[in-house]
Amino acid sequence: MTTTANLGFPRIGRDRELKWAQELHWRGDLDASGLADVAAGLRATHWRLQQDKGIQHIPSGDFSYYDQVLDTAVTLGAVPERFGAPFDIAASDADALGSYFTMARGGNGIPALELTKWFDTNYHYLVPELAADQEFRYSSKATAAQLQEASALGIATRPVVIGPLTFLRLAKRTDGGDTIELLDAILPAYVDWLTDLVASGATEIQLDEPALVLDLSPAEIDGYGRAYARLRDAVPTAKLTLATYFGGLGDNLELAVGLPVDVLHVDLVRDPGQLDAVVAAAPASLGLSLGVVDGRNVWRTDLTALYQRLLPVVEQAGSDRIQLAPSCSLLHLPVDLASETGGDAELESWLAFATQRLDEVALLAGALNGDADALAGLAESTAVLAARRTSPRVLQPAVQERLAAVTPDWSRRRAAYPKRAAAQHARLGLPLLPTTTIGSFPQTAEVRRLRAAHRRGELDAEAYRAGLEEFTVACIRKQEELGVDVLVHGEFERTDMVEHFGLKLDGFTTTSHGWVQSYGSRCVKPPVLFGDVARPEPMTVDWSAFAAAQTDRPMKGMLTGPITILQWSFVRDDQPESVTARQVALALRDEVVDLEAAGLPIVQVDEPALREGLPLRRRDWAAYLDWATEAFRLSVSGVRNDTQIHTHMCYAEFGDVMDAIIALDADVISMEASRSGGEVVAELAEAGYPNEVGPGVWDIHSPRVPSADEVDALFETALAVLPAERLWVNPDCGLKTRGWPEVEASLAELVAAAARARGRLVAQVQP
Ligand code: GLN
Ligand code: ZN
Repeated sequence: MTTTANLGFPRIGRDRELKWAQELHWRGDLDASGLADVAAGLRATHWRLQQDKGIQHIPSGDFSYYDQVLDTAVTLGAVPERFGAPFDIAASDADALGSYFTMARGGNGIPALELTKWFDTNYHYLVPELAADQEFRYSSKATAAQLQEASALGIATRPVVIGPLTFLRLAKRTDGGDTIELLDAILPAYVDWLTDLVASGATEIQLDEPALVLDLSPAEIDGYGRAYARLRDAVPTAKLTLATYFGGLGDNLELAVGLPVDVLHVDLVRDPGQLDAVVAAAPASLGLSLGVVDGRNVWRTDLTALYQRLLPVVEQAGSDRIQLAPSCSLLHLPVDLASETGGDAELESWLAFATQRLDEVALLAGALNGDADALAGLAESTAVLAARRTSPRVLQPAVQERLAAVTPDWSRRRAAYPKRAAAQHARLGLPLLPTTTIGSFPQTAEVRRLRAAHRRGELDAEAYRAGLEEFTVACIRKQEELGVDVLVHGEFERTDMVEHFGLKLDGFTTTSHGWVQSYGSRCVKPPVLFGDVARPEPMTVDWSAFAAAQTDRPMKGMLTGPITILQWSFVRDDQPESVTARQVALALRDEVVDLEAAGLPIVQVDEPALREGLPLRRRDWAAYLDWATEAFRLSVSGVRNDTQIHTHMCYAEFGDVMDAIIALDADVISMEASRSGGEVVAELAEAGYPNEVGPGVWDIHSPRVPSADEVDALFETALAVLPAERLWVNPDCGLKTRGWPEVEASLAELVAAAARARGRLVAQVQP
């Protein structure tokens, strides 16, 4: 019999119960045991749901109070000294939760662990900090406790453990050394962990090693063999499932099938082509867990096609060897489509969220096991998909025809940068080292109150608009008073930089409850890009024109770029992403041209997600960067030479994408500089970056106001390697999350420092 499995379920709850409980707890309005009760309630609900759906291998230990990588570090006793001694989170007592949340969020002057993206998802994990002589000890028994909790409910589960190689790959060493050197130190703690799981009743254990789909170093390849031999010996009776996901195994296939485990899980959504190779390479004793329904995207699966593809494989491999599962943990999907209240039945019929993925897996397994009802049930998904493929809501011939007519010159500005720069400088008349900001200004309690009142229907559209206009005008006056050279309107009308465009473009929809955990208690509701993308009318021109009319200074139009829009949405899977990106780019191109026609001399197109969209394997980078940069250029190249195009990126480690950044050919790029603005400029200069750049002088991720000395020193470093004519002065990201006091103080400092630097430059020229 083919069995069913699940690798992980979203823990936030259908109504984001975990988020509300976490936030109450942090505010002091819910004590540790109250939070623990909510957590236990969610776990019980999710286990029962999976059992009801007919899932046979149900995960436990996939719950987390904040993040599964943090939990792994805590389990292994890898608690940096500043957070105190290792602790046991299973207790869920006030002390343990206190230490845990301090690691996650910081507090009392203690900085938190760093947050970064989990593989190529929009989920952020906390980066474990390991010392060169790090000691590991099995310290926290939450996975064992959750296993027993499920078993007390009569549900046998398969505990989930992030494997040692993936854990080390995701961690960083405080001394800059390679974390793989700590493998021998970490293994005894893993041995104790797995041994305790077995002692607590586990008959099988899921070891997540998504790092197996990455390019591996020789030390890592060697480490897999050593580590798994050791773990195998430690728990000889437990059935070990090695879970790989987010890509194909590629050249790591031989390594993976040779490890001494009982079941290998492979991602057949990201890499359907690896199925035959996996079956051929796997020894007959190795069970196979086939990740066949998408854990990363929301489109219903064509179950008939999948059934036909799998039937011969199951016959060949033997059905007892096969488990069917989602491609990866369902953490990345909203919980339940049944929560949707939008009333768009047609569109909803095309979708599957986490709960529906379980139905798909169970139905498919039933059909493969010869169940007549299940077999009959497959046809529905196929019919729905056929309807989606031909729906007039998906296909807009005008959009496709226009795209087909695009020629390469659409992706090139009319003149090269030097000529454009001359025209722009003549038009704008800006001083050397012009000052500007990245777009958003503080979304204060008043702004949020206004929005909430409008949402509740207490404020009509007119009054809402009047309120937003007031905030916008005040923001512009403030920038003028501070002496900023290039102004922005403040983005008060936007809640989210992607949703804002999703709401205005054809081909997108938004969900009512499609929440996905981004980090901790923070959830996002990605728009769903389901069809050909078109712009029925201008999207931002009214606000930008309104703002421009309030001041004599140059105003920047503000847009989100095609790659970022795709990266932060659920994107249709029925055509290559590169095509979808070009459609979005064309819609944005019209907007950029309309902003120019409305008199905006500068338009900024943000691409903070360009780098995070980078494929996991290096060999796939060039193809991605090619279409990504092309889409950006397509969106901005419709304008005159004297219209200045800015872009913005939210990261400082851009070494990997430097060529792409140059290829964007934006007139000005502003970048995050959390490492140090000096390094960013040096790296750009070294790479021969030819256009203008605004290194982030103020790290807006902290409320700290930069000192005059700091900023002066940074300017000197920058001016030593790049000509003043090509340097801008700005914070390193939008100011949405900051308060006005620190925004005013910091911008005043930036403006003053720019003036001092100009003074020094003039003195050099005319001594
Ligand atoms: N223009 C956006 C803002 O200022 C950019 C945000 C971002 O970089 N993520 O909010
Ligand atoms: Zn940013």
